[in-house]
Amino acid sequence: MEVFKAARGKKKPFRMSISKSHVGGKDSPLMQYVLNHSLREHPVLKSLRLRTMQDSWNFMMVACEQSQFMANLAKLIKAKKVLEIGVYTGYNTLNMALSLPEDGVVVACDISEEYTNIGKPFWKEAGVEHKIDLRIQPALQTLDELLSSGQAETFDFVFIDADKVNYDNYYEKSLLLLRKGGIIAIDNVLWSGRVLNPSPNDADTVAIDKLNKKLHRDIRVTLSMLTVGDGLTLAIKL
Ligand code: SAM
Ligand code: CA
Repeated sequence: MEVFKAARGKKKPFRMSISKSHVGGKDSPLMQYVLNHSLREHPVLKSLRLRTMQDSWNFMMVACEQSQFMANLAKLIKAKKVLEIGVYTGYNTLNMALSLPEDGVVVACDISEEYTNIGKPFWKEAGVEHKIDLRIQPALQTLDELLSSGQAETFDFVFIDADKVNYDNYYEKSLLLLRKGGIIAIDNVLWSGRVLNPSPNDADTVAIDKLNKKLHRDIRVTLSMLTVGDGLTLAIKL
């Protein structure tokens, strides 16, 4: 296990802002403890994280421990087909691709070549670029294409992490694409706490809060809302 060896051989503790947890805060000693005692970051994943930290939009990157958790979930359900809605530099896309079997695929949706071009050389270096099917166009268009090409009920895991106003659309289309027992993970469901008091003028917060309320009643899925990162909802299709 190359990754495990790499993590065990690590001397320096993590000191960077690589987590966004609401629990204890990203720089808290307890959060550092969590990272230092659980993160098993593949060396190329680490390189991609360090490269992403040089980008001015780096706050958009998924929390490392959350990404590792989702990769573990994908392994647990023996996922082969993953959908990532919102790629940025592809830290989570790479983590997923590393955790999938050789014949697995991550359909990765983003509108930005600028961001995704940062990740591509790392996907190649890690030897998993053949598992990543990057589609540069609005994600809704990609989801519609997947549905019209007969891929309904074929995906095992979906990560929703693009523009928040479309979250409900992404959720509904993802539910169609997902097989029974598959998982939809929805990011930023706490939206830095703004969901507690959504301003009507804040379309992103309103959209997230509305979906949170809808999911609570949605009998098509089982549900958990986790406080990892900026809040992560897991919906398992019944
Ligand atoms: N999941 C990523 C990670 O692991 O670090 C972070 C994704 S970032 C929060 C959101 C991404 O969504 C950006 O890269 C942005 O270009 C993309 N995005 C925004 N609107 C989009 C749309 N309509 N369709 C597809 N991607 C979109
Ligand atoms: Ca996010």
